[in-house]
Amino acid sequence: MANCILLTNSASSGTMETENIGQYRAIGAYRIRTLLIDEGYTAELLDYANHFTFDQMKAFVNIHLSDDTFMLGISDSFLSDEAAKNLLKIAQYVKTIRPDVLTIAGGPFIQCSSFDCNDKAIDYVILNYAEYALLDILNKRKQNIINTHGRKYNALLEFQAHKLQKMNSRTTWLATDCIEPSHWLPIEITRGCKFKCAFCSYQFNGRKGDDYLRDLDDLRGELMYNYENFGVRSYMFCDDTYNETVEKISDVNDVMQSLPFKVQFAAYIKPELVIRFPEMIPILVESGLCMSHMGIESFNTRTRKLIHKGCTRDEIAWLLKEFKDVGVLSHGTFIVGLPEETTEQIQESHEFLEDSKLMASWYFLPLMIRNIKRNHTPSPIELNPGKYGYKLTYPSKSGKTTHWINDNFTLDSATQLATKLNRSRKYGGIGGRHRMGLASVTGKELHEFDYLNHYDLFDPEKMAPYRLALDSFLVSYVNTKLNVKQNTIIGQ
Ligand code: SF4
Repeated sequence: MANCILLTNSASSGTMETENIGQYRAIGAYRIRTLLIDEGYTAELLDYANHFTFDQMKAFVNIHLSDDTFMLGISDSFLSDEAAKNLLKIAQYVKTIRPDVLTIAGGPFIQCSSFDCNDKAIDYVILNYAEYALLDILNKRKQNIINTHGRKYNALLEFQAHKLQKMNSRTTWLATDCIEPSHWLPIEITRGCKFKCAFCSYQFNGRKGDDYLRDLDDLRGELMYNYENFGVRSYMFCDDTYNETVEKISDVNDVMQSLPFKVQFAAYIKPELVIRFPEMIPILVESGLCMSHMGIESFNTRTRKLIHKGCTRDEIAWLLKEFKDVGVLSHGTFIVGLPEETTEQIQESHEFLEDSKLMASWYFLPLMIRNIKRNHTPSPIELNPGKYGYKLTYPSKSGKTTHWINDNFTLDSATQLATKLNRSRKYGGIGGRHRMGLASVTGKELHEFDYLNHYDLFDPEKMAPYRLALDSFLVSYVNTKLNVKQNTIIGQ
């Protein structure tokens, strides 16, 4: 029995091409559940929708659906196409038997995801950070000033300046989430990014000031709670740019040093800032950084300038070596199709990555330009493609993104080159998400997966032990959620 039922597949360690083997979780649905419970509601959450059947999810909903239930929440994060269809079917099912239950879908890119938020079974769609929008909807429901049929809600327009609050910004994990000491948990310290790269469309890009930083005692409390209740000491920091300032990472380091255990964490690191402030390196390492995710995008200095990024390839290589020397793994993403960059230059970058062996892994992606009509946080390129040398040609089949052409690529040729480079590499281990996922299910350290090559992720035989570990976790997870005897086989 619950006021609110939440369904998500926040867990992901796969890419479009590889299997979802690990079970590293994302934060959104758990943060929403924390907020609902803080507000005095009861809430039940089922994760891993990609791995479960419609019948299993329906069984979970039926257990918790009661006269007191007034909301079904669905997150679109990391949904497979099949899971997106199943979740929509769940919303349709709930609407059939309980038309008064509010059905609310959300996620940072939900208008561009495979979830069909135009279906009439969905009452509201919340974009991006959903906390305040959701509370507003629920308050209006309390005051009887909304009904439950077919309206759309846009959190972004209503809540332009939503930020992480100083206090009460924690995410509380519960016993029924089946958290184990080996799990890597997501955690927020700040929200938004001070920068505004030309291709990036995160909400709160270009934000000013540091008032999005949460209270550090609140942060310490969350770390202590997770350690004392689950033995967890491994984290993915969700901040879009963790190393915004020397002061911020020093303050967080003080928190880390005050703990009775050693935290290890992965974070999105902006290399240009570490290069400019090299004193960041010992602070990051002392506080527990063991894996950095860097959006490098291009090694071409001219292109980097055009997308509003500084530094040269040699400067970035210096940082990668510094990190490698102190045991920090570096994972990078690169974009094919950025302004003024040619096939030859991108191939040269690829060769540099292979020859230098400075990065633990990297991945090439084609530049995606989303449909401006469906995109409420457009990047500078999406807002003004002509200025960056792009002509938009025709919408993609789904209408969510658009095809483009510039002097060197089309979306199709950029996709082909990215795929070719990802498939042709000779060196390069598994990516950061995969490492956290595999470490979570096996209890191993991140470096213990150094021997795995990117290609191994496509090999069912090599992945079999990890698949087995994940399946065993999922059996105990679903049995906990459905409250049935352990060792019952999923689906029987
Ligand atoms: S790419 Fe990174 S640094 Fe640039 S705006 Fe986006 S989050 Fe900020």
